[in-house]
Amino acid sequence: MNVSAPLIRLRSVQRNFGAGEAKVAALKNIDLSVEPGDFVAILGPSGCGKSTLLNIIGCLDQATSGDYEIAGRQVDDLSQNELAHLRREYFGFVFQNYYLLPNLTSTENIELSAVYAAVPPKTRVARANSLIDAMRLHSLKSRRPSELSGGQQQRVAVARALMNEPRVILADEPTGALDTNSSEDILHVLEELNQAHHTIILVTHDMKVAERAKRIIELRDGEIVSDHRAKPNTRVNLPQSLTSEPESTFSRVWGQLEYSLAMAMNAITRHKLRAALTTLGIVIGIAAVVSVLALGRGATQRVLDNISSLGTSTLEVFPGADFGDIRSNRVRTLTVQDAQVLAEQPYAASVTPVVTANTNVRFGSIVSRAQLVGVGEQYLDVRGFALDKGRFFNSRDVRRLAQDVVIDQRASEVLFLQAGRTPIGSIILIDKIPSRVVGVLREQSSSFSSSRDPRVFLPYTTVQGRFLGDHSLRSILLRVDDRFSMDVAQDRVTQLLTYRHGAEDFLVINQGAIRETISSTSATMSLAISIIGTISLLVGGIGVMNIMMVSVVERTAEIGLRMAVGAQRSDILWQFLVEACLLCVLGGVLGITLALVAGLGFTLADLPLRLVYSWNAFLIAITCSIVTGIVFGYLPARTATRLDPVSALRR
Ligand code: ADP
Ligand code: MG
Repeated sequence: MNVSAPLIRLRSVQRNFGAGEAKVAALKNIDLSVEPGDFVAILGPSGCGKSTLLNIIGCLDQATSGDYEIAGRQVDDLSQNELAHLRREYFGFVFQNYYLLPNLTSTENIELSAVYAAVPPKTRVARANSLIDAMRLHSLKSRRPSELSGGQQQRVAVARALMNEPRVILADEPTGALDTNSSEDILHVLEELNQAHHTIILVTHDMKVAERAKRIIELRDGEIVSDHRAKPNTRVNLPQSLTSEPESTFSRVWGQLEYSLAMAMNAITRHKLRAALTTLGIVIGIAAVVSVLALGRGATQRVLDNISSLGTSTLEVFPGADFGDIRSNRVRTLTVQDAQVLAEQPYAASVTPVVTANTNVRFGSIVSRAQLVGVGEQYLDVRGFALDKGRFFNSRDVRRLAQDVVIDQRASEVLFLQAGRTPIGSIILIDKIPSRVVGVLREQSSSFSSSRDPRVFLPYTTVQGRFLGDHSLRSILLRVDDRFSMDVAQDRVTQLLTYRHGAEDFLVINQGAIRETISSTSATMSLAISIIGTISLLVGGIGVMNIMMVSVVERTAEIGLRMAVGAQRSDILWQFLVEACLLCVLGGVLGITLALVAGLGFTLADLPLRLVYSWNAFLIAITCSIVTGIVFGYLPARTATRLDPVSALRR
């Protein structure tokens, strides 16, 4: 702090624009001191360097050479953040063209510099309100600049300049675009502010306006040609030191983040269609990844459910050399004798032949489609199933082609639940053949699908003899004894049956092995899809970057103004970064929604596949969106911070 130093002191200040042939010396050798409390008019014709001088005084621009001190401190020594601090709390700028932000209301425009000064919202609103009253803007509070007259806009601009109670008000032709009445208004306000001990530096080409000041400095071709005091300055002794605030407190960062978010929302809602198109790449990328991952999970889960219902220690032998043969259903080489021989092997814990047929079941007036499964007496043991009620058929029932049927829970529900009858002992018709229900299976936890047909179990002999008239088998199920490894058992079964058939005209399927294959296939598929999704995100991100670049160019003047009222470079960086992230996150959320809708579609269409979502996938999707936003938003955001306030404002 230096009490004796003048408020503002320029010594041999020069400002050149351009270089070489095109060099313009806008200011030549300016020496100027301003005392606190003064009201100075800088008068001169257009192009004489008035704005250039005012911009240097207001720290929007820097001199090419010479010295500039504010309250005894060299401006050259100040950091970017300190300059921003000066612009927002020491100086209040009023421009000829008002430079209000077109998308903000009067109140929001007025509050601008307080936002960057991290004034708490309550204080900010209170101060803005008192300025609104003082400037008679009450009825115009929530209007946007396009809905205001020139004089009204300039009153808003003056209020904005006063928001942080600056010591010095810098007005660059504040009445240049106004009619006489509005001009008078503004000049009156400036006089009042001067009486309230604000120092005022006013630039004008109009002698009448200049006469309102206490001191008139005339400028010609970048030089001061006269300096004349019209009225005395009662020097006030307010503290003039440059206060410096802590650089970046947590609350400042948080406040900026919040404000940036609000501004980003504002920008995005203003260009809804553009935002939607920009995020399309992200939407598609995220939707693709999320839904395909869910589809993969659904498919895997379904297949695994199927398999695990067989247990991992089960071998299944099908007739036919490969899957194509099995489906043809015409291969009849597998016989009951094969099953009997297998049952005698030491590695076989239990064995059952299996035959199947699609059929109808009827009980009273209820008819349902059903799957008829013919099995042997060891079936429950092979599959690890248990009974809910009744009994299973035994080897005697199998030998005598008993018409004793065991039904599953679903069949029990369909046939008996509504009728309110007990299944055990009831006679049902299976394809017109009466059979007595002797048992009900317990529900299997892995019954994956509620929409599958009911199943009824009869001895395989009964199914072969009374339904199919055929002695071939659909498959043989064999549970391997725990003491033997699955691979060994599989080899032995293959050897034995090859020997018996004289050829390998069958297929032994090891459920455990299939399980592994499917899990790893689905992992490979997920990886492939994730790579495609990543590429899509990349493309989407480039789209966002592109639009953000355009947005920075479009909003150059806005950025210039924000800097002029005291935004730090980091504030500008945040604003654009947050906007890019918000775009990407919106894209991500839309993408997830799209994927959920796809899943709903699957369910409604009653497709056999379900999409199974995971929270992880959502979390990853959102994280990816944010990262995309940061990565691709950074370049445009940094471009914005590189702008220099005056040249940004001039554009
Ligand atoms: P005034 O405000 O008095 O009308 P300015 O200070 O705006 O004048 O400009 C003074 C001179 O400097 C003019 O000749 C103008 O063309 C030139 N000038 C101002 N800013 C720039 C710039 N950014 N680049 C090049 N020339 C400039
Ligand atoms: Mg000018």
